[in-house]
Amino acid sequence: MRTANIEREKDFCGASDEWNRFFRFELVFVSLGPRYICYIHSLDKKTGDKRQNTRKIVCKICRGHGHKADSEDCPAFCREQSVLCFKGPHFVFSNMYRCQMMHSGLDFTSSESAYQWQKAVDLGRPDTAQRIRDAADGFRAKALSKDLDSDLAFEWRQEHGVRVMEAILEAKLEQVPEFRSQLMETGSAVLAECTHDLFWAAGLTANQAKHCKPAYFPGQNMLGKILMNLRERHRNVNNNDEKYSSLVKPNKEYYHLSYVGLVTSCKNIRCATSNGSSIC
Ligand SMILES: [Zn+2]
Repeated sequence: MRTANIEREKDFCGASDEWNRFFRFELVFVSLGPRYICYIHSLDKKTGDKRQNTRKIVCKICRGHGHKADSEDCPAFCREQSVLCFKGPHFVFSNMYRCQMMHSGLDFTSSESAYQWQKAVDLGRPDTAQRIRDAADGFRAKALSKDLDSDLAFEWRQEHGVRVMEAILEAKLEQVPEFRSQLMETGSAVLAECTHDLFWAAGLTANQAKHCKPAYFPGQNMLGKILMNLRERHRNVNNNDEKYSSLVKPNKEYYHLSYVGLVTSCKNIRCATSNGSSIC
């Protein structure tokens, strides 16, 4: 009797093992089958090589599908153009570049510190302004400006940011000889800050910006535009043999006209963008 029970258990166990194996196979097939079918379909029929799923690639510049930002398939692609990209404290055109300069009668160690200080003063935060002025470098000054109310800071930048930056860079041009000489040596090259900032910079890496028509930059590149504007004005003043001092201390009206000029050129760029996306 006991032997018969053991035999029945063996039969039952045997049958159970087979069913278990079958169900395991089913489970594996159900979970991996669709992936296998997708894999087979992704193979090139002629060569058997794996095809790239180009539909998933979205271009960062034109938002088109099937190509990357620095690809020749992109309508923004330009093989050869004169674009000078800068980023970080080693480039004199960057606001992070360490230099002794004066703004509003005070000493600063970078144009970034002067800009952030002016922002804090205008927003009625003299304590933060003092800490920014005491900061060791532009990076620290920028980090300290995060103490300001973000909404007010944004409004201030929209209304006054470009005008203040122009005034500070004018002062830098007058006071920092290497900045003045290197800016004039750039000739007619497009100047682009290559960071991901979409207001001051081009919003691209240096490699991407090098092969991208400036009209297609995702960022507004306002810093680059101010520098190019400054270069042009400085060149015109020198050509006309006027006194340089009349340029570095322009009146308010001059700044206003200059700012309007920048906004107009920015609007033109938006019109030129094929995908219609607002970059201003
Ligand atoms: Zn593209």
